[in-house]
Amino acid sequence: MTSKAKIVSIANQKGGVGKTTTAINLGAALAMRGKRVLLVDLDPQGNASTGLGISRETRGRSTYDLLLADAAAADIAMTTDVDNLWIIPATMDLSSADAELMSSTRRVMHLKNSLRSRSTPYDYVFIDCPPSLSLLTVNAFVASDTVIVPLQAEFFALEGLSQLLLTVREVRSSANPDLRVEGIVLTMFDRRNNLCLQVEDDARQNLGELVFHTKIPRNVRLSEAPSYAMPVLNYDPTSRGAIAYRSLAAELLQRNETSQVAHV
Ligand code: ADP
Ligand code: MG
Repeated sequence: MTSKAKIVSIANQKGGVGKTTTAINLGAALAMRGKRVLLVDLDPQGNASTGLGISRETRGRSTYDLLLADAAAADIAMTTDVDNLWIIPATMDLSSADAELMSSTRRVMHLKNSLRSRSTPYDYVFIDCPPSLSLLTVNAFVASDTVIVPLQAEFFALEGLSQLLLTVREVRSSANPDLRVEGIVLTMFDRRNNLCLQVEDDARQNLGELVFHTKIPRNVRLSEAPSYAMPVLNYDPTSRGAIAYRSLAAELLQRNETSQVAHV
């Protein structure tokens, strides 16, 4: 039993940029390399849960209980069809969690308290954040060691990113001084699209090593896999999407081993 998992938020306040796809497939890729991975579905829409085949009827205790009922992660985590990959599913009651947290004096500390207060058997915990910078996301940042930001290479992507980085800095100057940005990963990348190339150039120029070398291509297999309730790594292991997420996992492990975590 390891006592300290590395906790990573996958966040971007924009919806549809690849957060859930990254959480599922990066998580699965690390699990397939023998890491013990827990996915925490912090989006009331529950896409990560559905995408891993946890149907609404089978969801028992959920992220809501982790946040507001002091449940222990390892007690409520559900197994998935992928060895070494567990998930705490999201249920609809998570949508009222924001309002309930608001009335708590330690409102930003709830997730940290439940994820950090007990030793857990995981090497990595990935938190799939909702598409907002709400109290749920702030709870995720307070609980995390690092943040991974999926960035869809499109117009205005970098503007949204500055706001996100501002929130990271705010959390760092208050509840979690150790919070770092792990990296920014370009998603749905199409190298025949000039705008994609331009956003990549801008991102690498402004953010340097903070941008992962691995880019996730636009790949239809990635969008099909959730309807078969599996990560793309199982659905089509040789697809470009699967190759990219395996490469991202390798890059993350390499960064962690050389502890190249940048400061912004
Ligand atoms: P978010 O969690 O940020 O809202 P998702 O991961 O759910 O974003 O992705 C939004 C939609 O785009 C989903 O239908 C997903 O299957 C699809 N998608 C995500 N990444 C890719 C990709 N690289 N190529 C093709 N489709 C993708
Ligand atoms: Mg999502």
